[in-house]
Amino acid sequence: MTGLPPQAGPGGPGGPADPDATVDPIARPDERNDRPLGLFRRLLRAGQAPRSPYLCAHLIDAPADATPRTPGRCEDHQPQDGPWVHLRLCLACGHVGCCDSSRPRHATLHYEQTGHPVMRSYEPGESWRWCYVDELLG
Ligand SMILES: [Zn+2]
Ligand SMILES: [Zn+2]
Ligand SMILES: [Zn+2]
Repeated sequence: MTGLPPQAGPGGPGGPADPDATVDPIARPDERNDRPLGLFRRLLRAGQAPRSPYLCAHLIDAPADATPRTPGRCEDHQPQDGPWVHLRLCLACGHVGCCDSSRPRHATLHYEQTGHPVMRSYEPGESWRWCYVDELLG
């Protein structure tokens, strides 16, 4: 048993779910480029703690949370970038950026530009962290 409740949220713009679909019902098509999110969910469903078995120095040094500079929105998003899928919060400086399933991938871009190694999910109910350097959850 995974204990995961059925998804009963409001219908999004993605259209109705196909009840006969054999694809993973949890991963939406627009989330599949998000490696940390996919790993997090796989571990959860396998009944394992959603974190890597060991932590790198970045994860050990990073705080559990940070104050977002732009609460509730991607700091770098332009109107032509389209909607973001999820938001990520940089634990070094509070930058809020969109995830790898969002076209501009501003959170990853922020890491590449600043070297700030650790972000956390900025989604409600998710507190996992991800080190870009070592590609570890923790
Ligand atoms: Zn690391
Ligand atoms: Zn963005
Ligand atoms: Zn940062």
